[in-house]
Amino acid sequence: MTATIREPGGDVRIIDRSDVVVVGGGPAGISAAVSAARNGASVTLLERYPYVGGLAAGGMVLVLDDMTNKLEITVQGICMEMIERMKKWDLCVTPTDRDRQLDICDTPEAWRRWARWGLFDFHTQSMPHPVCYSAAFDPDGFKRAAYDVIRESGVKLRAHSWFSSAIMDGNTIKGVICQTKSGREAILGDVVIDTTGDLDVAANAGAQHTEGSFILTTVSRWGGVDTEAAERFEFEEPERFKRLDHEAKRLIGGCWSFWWLKTPLPGVIWLNCPHIPKLNGLKVEDLTHAELEGRNRIQNLLDFARANFPGFEKSYIVDFAPQTGVRQTRLLEGAYVVSKDDVINRRHFADTVCRGRDYYTPYRAMLPREIEQLIVAGRHYSATPQAQKSSREIPPCMAMGEAAGVAATVALNAGVVVRQANVAKIQKMMRAQGADPGDMPSENATYLEAAE
Ligand SMILES: Cc1cc2nc3c(=O)[nH]c(=O)nc-3n(C[C@H](O)[C@H](O)[C@H](O)COP(=O)(O)OP(=O)(O)OC[C@H]3O[C@@H](n4cnc5c(N)ncnc54)[C@H](O)[C@@H]3O)c2cc1C
Repeated sequence: MTATIREPGGDVRIIDRSDVVVVGGGPAGISAAVSAARNGASVTLLERYPYVGGLAAGGMVLVLDDMTNKLEITVQGICMEMIERMKKWDLCVTPTDRDRQLDICDTPEAWRRWARWGLFDFHTQSMPHPVCYSAAFDPDGFKRAAYDVIRESGVKLRAHSWFSSAIMDGNTIKGVICQTKSGREAILGDVVIDTTGDLDVAANAGAQHTEGSFILTTVSRWGGVDTEAAERFEFEEPERFKRLDHEAKRLIGGCWSFWWLKTPLPGVIWLNCPHIPKLNGLKVEDLTHAELEGRNRIQNLLDFARANFPGFEKSYIVDFAPQTGVRQTRLLEGAYVVSKDDVINRRHFADTVCRGRDYYTPYRAMLPREIEQLIVAGRHYSATPQAQKSSREIPPCMAMGEAAGVAATVALNAGVVVRQANVAKIQKMMRAQGADPGDMPSENATYLEAAE
């Protein structure tokens, strides 16, 4: 049995009160906070790290994908607004409209232009994968765009605030307590939105959940890469490239088909690897292991790449992502649990409030069954582990956050609990602010009526 020690209780200072308290400043949290504030709510956004952006900034996950259904762009709203802002600063790259057209998108020419940006539909089995709307971006550009929308919408940001416990009145959440350098601080709110990615708030409040798991990744960026030379080698000497690439992948010990991708910064690439399985993203020991093991493998890979790959002769490591690459931990078991079948069959629900690629998210998948005034948005939403794996990319998480912010204000304005927020109103407001609530399904959607 593990030995325990009793913590002394005590009074906690109430340092803030808002209509809406958003916990976790990642992609979902930024959208939730900005969306609620733009609709008139006072909003406090709490983040454990010194910066916002979550895995899209600190995690250095640098492609926004899963946002199109063939030519239709299905995630718009705040996500698209941030893409446009970053593009103005040359910190974001999207494929040309021409290369996305159906007669061009899967040609070898289009593939060669966009493959090493990672801007293609990786869900298709066919090769080359079709080029589609998606965005390669710079992590500091993402932070900068996020700070701009946060500041302009009047969101109160409290960084360096690590959520530690939910303040409950019966089964209603009333606020949260954060651990900070000044001690424990209480922040009260009429609605709390959990966007921690690991369901920290909802789990602490007592919401039913499951624990899934997936590979952990120690992402890094390298500089000094002559990407043109590297691509020339890959496309013009395919046999030699294949042999070396195979050896590189053996050294990494776990990665997708591309172990490096371009970023908007010249000569800087990002590495979505190594993938380390059987680790738990909630356990200190495992997170520490991922950092140490990941660094070792990347150092070995760098030595190999410098010695063997054209274009990599002068490459060096710029940095390792400060936020560990955790894809899945706790998942809400909410009022509706999205299944893999729902995602694959593009099942449409009457209470759909947002969508990803070609799948739909019902509002009930953002609501815990037993806790009132709490909304959950982002990669820990109510889905089976298999369904989450194919519906957790950054854009759909941002769309979910945006819907959560709207839902909170719809409920507050109507004087009802968030569980009773009028879905038609949420859909209408989402559309009014340029987001796609998924209320008008594409032709390939199938139907499941809501309200069970
Ligand atoms: C290695 C890797 C590669 C990926 N590749 C892609 C890709 O190519 N394209 C893509 O679109 N998606 C990709 N994904 C998925 C995507 O990054 C995530 O699913 C997405 O970022 C989830 O957004 P989120 O806001 O729900 O969570 P997160 O991005 O995890 O943000 C959660 C935020 O909450 C904060 N937080 C957590 N706990 C607390 C606490 N207790 N108190 C206060 N703050 C807290 C965190 O610091 C963070 O800022 C990848 C993920 C990983 C790990």
